[in-house]
Amino acid sequence: MTATGLIFLGPPGAGKGTQAQVLAQALEIPHISTGEILRQAIAQKTSLGKKAQEYVERGELVPDDLILNLIRERLGRADTATGWILDGFPRNVTQASFLDDLLEELSQRADVVINLEVPDSILVTRLLSRGRKDDTEETIGRRLQVYREQTAPLIDYYRHRHKLYSVDGDRTPELVTQSLTQIMEAQPSLNSQN
Ligand code: AMP
Repeated sequence: MTATGLIFLGPPGAGKGTQAQVLAQALEIPHISTGEILRQAIAQKTSLGKKAQEYVERGELVPDDLILNLIRERLGRADTATGWILDGFPRNVTQASFLDDLLEELSQRADVVINLEVPDSILVTRLLSRGRKDDTEETIGRRLQVYREQTAPLIDYYRHRHKLYSVDGDRTPELVTQSLTQIMEAQPSLNSQN
Protein backbone atom coordinates (compact mmCIF):
# COMPACT_ATOMS: atom_id res chain seq x y z
CA MET A 1 0.00 0.00 0.00
CA THR A 2 1.31 3.47 -0.80
CA ALA A 3 1.39 6.16 1.85
CA THR A 4 -0.20 9.58 1.42
CA GLY A 5 2.28 12.34 2.24
CA LEU A 6 1.02 15.86 2.63
CA ILE A 7 2.86 19.02 3.63
CA PHE A 8 1.18 22.24 4.77
CA LEU A 9 3.07 25.44 4.11
CA GLY A 10 1.80 28.89 4.97
CA PRO A 11 2.35 31.63 7.55
CA PRO A 12 1.31 31.40 11.21
CA GLY A 13 -2.44 31.91 11.44
CA ALA A 14 -3.16 30.70 7.91
CA GLY A 15 -5.25 27.81 9.23
CA LYS A 16 -2.74 25.00 8.71
CA GLY A 17 -3.55 23.31 12.01
CA THR A 18 -7.32 23.48 11.54
CA GLN A 19 -7.20 22.17 7.99
CA ALA A 20 -4.56 19.54 8.69
CA GLN A 21 -6.71 18.16 11.49
CA VAL A 22 -9.80 17.88 9.27
CA LEU A 23 -7.90 16.22 6.43
CA ALA A 24 -6.06 13.85 8.76
CA GLN A 25 -9.37 12.63 10.09
CA ALA A 26 -10.88 12.25 6.62
CA LEU A 27 -7.84 10.42 5.24
CA GLU A 28 -7.22 8.47 8.47
CA ILE A 29 -3.58 9.42 8.68
CA PRO A 30 -1.69 11.13 11.53
CA HIS A 31 -1.50 14.92 11.79
CA ILE A 32 2.03 15.82 12.80
CA SER A 33 2.38 19.36 14.13
CA THR A 34 5.90 20.18 15.28
CA GLY A 35 4.54 23.26 17.11
CA GLU A 36 2.08 21.06 19.03
CA ILE A 37 4.78 18.51 19.88
CA LEU A 38 6.99 21.33 21.17
CA ARG A 39 4.17 22.89 23.22
CA GLN A 40 3.52 19.53 24.86
CA ALA A 41 7.21 19.01 25.56
CA ILE A 42 7.36 22.49 27.14
CA ALA A 43 4.28 21.82 29.28
CA GLN A 44 5.74 18.49 30.42
CA LYS A 45 9.17 20.08 31.01
CA THR A 46 10.96 17.32 29.09
CA SER A 47 14.57 17.90 28.05
CA LEU A 48 13.36 18.83 24.54
CA GLY A 49 10.84 21.22 26.10
CA LYS A 50 13.46 22.92 28.23
CA LYS A 51 15.72 23.43 25.23
CA ALA A 52 12.90 24.67 22.97
CA GLN A 53 11.01 26.96 25.34
CA GLU A 54 12.93 30.20 24.97
CA TYR A 55 12.87 29.99 21.17
CA VAL A 56 9.14 29.30 20.99
CA GLU A 57 8.38 32.14 23.39
CA ARG A 58 10.43 34.58 21.33
CA GLY A 59 8.87 33.48 18.05
CA GLU A 60 12.21 32.16 16.75
CA LEU A 61 12.72 28.82 15.07
CA VAL A 62 13.92 26.10 17.41
CA PRO A 63 17.43 24.89 16.35
CA ASP A 64 17.31 22.45 13.45
CA ASP A 65 19.01 19.55 15.25
CA LEU A 66 16.21 19.38 17.84
CA ILE A 67 13.49 19.43 15.19
CA LEU A 68 15.21 17.00 12.84
CA ASN A 69 15.58 14.38 15.59
CA LEU A 70 11.97 14.85 16.52
CA ILE A 71 10.78 14.38 12.91
CA ARG A 72 12.99 11.36 12.32
CA GLU A 73 11.54 9.70 15.41
CA ARG A 74 7.94 10.66 14.55
CA LEU A 75 8.03 9.56 10.90
CA GLY A 76 9.65 6.31 12.01
CA ARG A 77 6.59 5.27 14.01
CA ALA A 78 4.28 2.57 12.74
CA ASP A 79 1.20 4.80 12.38
CA THR A 80 2.80 6.68 9.48
CA ALA A 81 2.83 3.60 7.26
CA THR A 82 -0.38 4.74 5.52
CA GLY A 83 0.66 8.39 5.36
CA TRP A 84 1.04 11.61 7.31
CA ILE A 85 0.28 15.30 7.25
CA LEU A 86 3.09 17.62 8.24
CA ASP A 87 1.96 20.94 9.73
CA GLY A 88 4.68 23.43 10.60
CA PHE A 89 7.55 21.37 9.21
CA PRO A 90 9.67 22.01 7.19
CA ARG A 91 10.25 25.64 8.17
CA ASN A 92 13.50 26.34 6.29
CA VAL A 93 15.57 24.93 3.43
CA THR A 94 17.79 22.81 5.71
CA GLN A 95 14.71 21.08 7.12
CA ALA A 96 13.21 20.57 3.65
CA SER A 97 16.37 19.02 2.34
CA PHE A 98 16.64 16.77 5.43
CA LEU A 99 13.04 15.69 4.84
CA ASP A 100 13.81 14.77 1.22
CA ASP A 101 16.63 12.49 2.39
CA LEU A 102 14.62 11.01 5.25
CA LEU A 103 11.65 10.21 2.99
CA GLU A 104 13.93 8.55 0.49
CA GLU A 105 15.38 6.44 3.29
CA LEU A 106 11.82 5.47 4.34
CA SER A 107 10.76 4.82 0.73
CA GLN A 108 8.09 7.48 1.05
CA ARG A 109 7.42 10.81 -0.59
CA ALA A 110 5.43 14.01 -0.24
CA ASP A 111 2.58 13.68 -2.72
CA VAL A 112 1.07 17.11 -2.24
CA VAL A 113 2.34 20.39 -0.82
CA ILE A 114 -0.35 22.91 0.09
CA ASN A 115 0.45 26.59 0.42
CA LEU A 116 -2.30 28.35 2.37
CA GLU A 117 -2.36 32.02 1.44
CA VAL A 118 -3.72 34.71 3.76
CA PRO A 119 -2.92 38.46 3.80
CA ASP A 120 -0.76 39.69 6.71
CA SER A 121 -3.44 42.00 8.14
CA ILE A 122 -5.83 39.06 8.50
CA LEU A 123 -3.13 36.85 10.03
CA VAL A 124 -2.42 39.35 12.80
CA THR A 125 -6.13 39.66 13.68
CA ARG A 126 -6.54 35.88 13.70
CA LEU A 127 -3.46 35.25 15.84
CA LEU A 128 -4.38 37.92 18.38
CA SER A 129 -7.82 36.39 18.80
CA ARG A 130 -6.36 32.90 19.25
CA GLY A 131 -4.60 33.87 22.49
CA ARG A 132 -1.87 31.24 22.59
CA LYS A 133 1.13 32.06 24.79
CA ASP A 134 3.26 32.95 21.76
CA ASP A 135 0.46 35.02 20.21
CA THR A 136 1.43 38.39 21.68
CA GLU A 137 1.73 41.36 19.34
CA GLU A 138 5.51 41.41 19.58
CA THR A 139 6.00 37.68 19.05
CA ILE A 140 3.54 37.63 16.17
CA GLY A 141 5.59 40.30 14.37
CA ARG A 142 8.73 38.22 14.79
CA ARG A 143 7.03 35.01 13.67
CA LEU A 144 5.74 36.65 10.50
CA GLN A 145 9.23 37.99 9.80
CA VAL A 146 10.80 34.56 10.39
CA TYR A 147 8.17 33.09 8.07
CA ARG A 148 9.00 35.55 5.28
CA GLU A 149 12.76 35.15 5.62
CA GLN A 150 13.11 31.43 6.23
CA THR A 151 9.92 29.58 5.38
CA ALA A 152 8.46 31.42 2.37
CA PRO A 153 11.46 30.38 0.18
CA LEU A 154 10.12 26.82 0.48
CA ILE A 155 7.24 27.77 -1.82
CA ASP A 156 9.70 27.90 -4.71
CA TYR A 157 11.64 24.92 -3.37
CA TYR A 158 8.52 22.76 -3.61
CA ARG A 159 7.23 24.35 -6.79
CA HIS A 160 10.31 22.93 -8.49
CA ARG A 161 10.24 19.49 -6.87
CA HIS A 162 6.68 18.53 -6.05
CA LYS A 163 3.10 19.30 -6.75
CA LEU A 164 2.52 22.63 -5.07
CA TYR A 165 -1.00 23.93 -4.68
CA SER A 166 -1.70 27.46 -3.53
CA VAL A 167 -5.06 27.75 -1.82
CA ASP A 168 -6.84 30.94 -0.73
CA GLY A 169 -6.97 30.64 3.05
CA ASP A 170 -8.86 33.90 3.51
CA ARG A 171 -12.24 32.17 3.45
CA THR A 172 -14.37 30.20 5.90
CA PRO A 173 -12.73 26.99 7.15
CA GLU A 174 -15.47 25.00 5.37
CA LEU A 175 -14.69 26.53 1.98
CA VAL A 176 -10.97 26.00 2.45
CA THR A 177 -11.63 22.35 3.35
CA GLN A 178 -13.71 22.00 0.20
CA SER A 179 -10.81 23.21 -1.98
CA LEU A 180 -8.39 20.89 -0.21
CA THR A 181 -10.69 17.90 -0.61
CA GLN A 182 -10.95 18.62 -4.33
CA ILE A 183 -7.17 18.73 -4.62
CA MET A 184 -6.84 15.40 -2.81
CA GLU A 185 -9.54 13.78 -4.93
CA ALA A 186 -7.77 14.89 -8.08
CA GLN A 187 -4.58 12.99 -7.15
CA PRO A 188 -4.49 9.93 -9.41
CA SER A 189 -1.80 8.27 -7.28
CA LEU A 190 -3.96 8.45 -4.16
CA ASN A 191 -7.16 6.99 -5.57
CA SER A 192 -6.00 3.53 -6.51
CA GLN A 193 -7.59 1.97 -3.41
CA ASN A 194 -11.01 3.61 -3.85
P1 AMP B 1 3.46 26.53 15.17
O1 AMP B 1 2.50 25.91 16.11
O2 AMP B 1 3.71 25.70 13.95
O3 AMP B 1 3.10 27.94 14.83
O4 AMP B 1 4.85 26.60 15.94
C1 AMP B 1 5.02 27.33 17.14
C2 AMP B 1 6.49 27.58 17.40
O5 AMP B 1 7.18 26.33 17.54
C3 AMP B 1 7.23 28.32 16.29
O6 AMP B 1 7.10 29.72 16.39
C4 AMP B 1 8.68 27.85 16.52
O7 AMP B 1 9.23 28.51 17.63
C5 AMP B 1 8.48 26.41 16.93
N1 AMP B 1 8.50 25.49 15.76
C6 AMP B 1 7.46 24.75 15.28
N2 AMP B 1 7.82 24.04 14.22
C7 AMP B 1 9.13 24.31 14.01
C8 AMP B 1 10.09 23.88 13.05
N3 AMP B 1 9.77 23.03 12.06
N4 AMP B 1 11.36 24.37 13.15
C9 AMP B 1 11.69 25.23 14.14
N5 AMP B 1 10.84 25.69 15.06
C10 AMP B 1 9.57 25.23 15.01
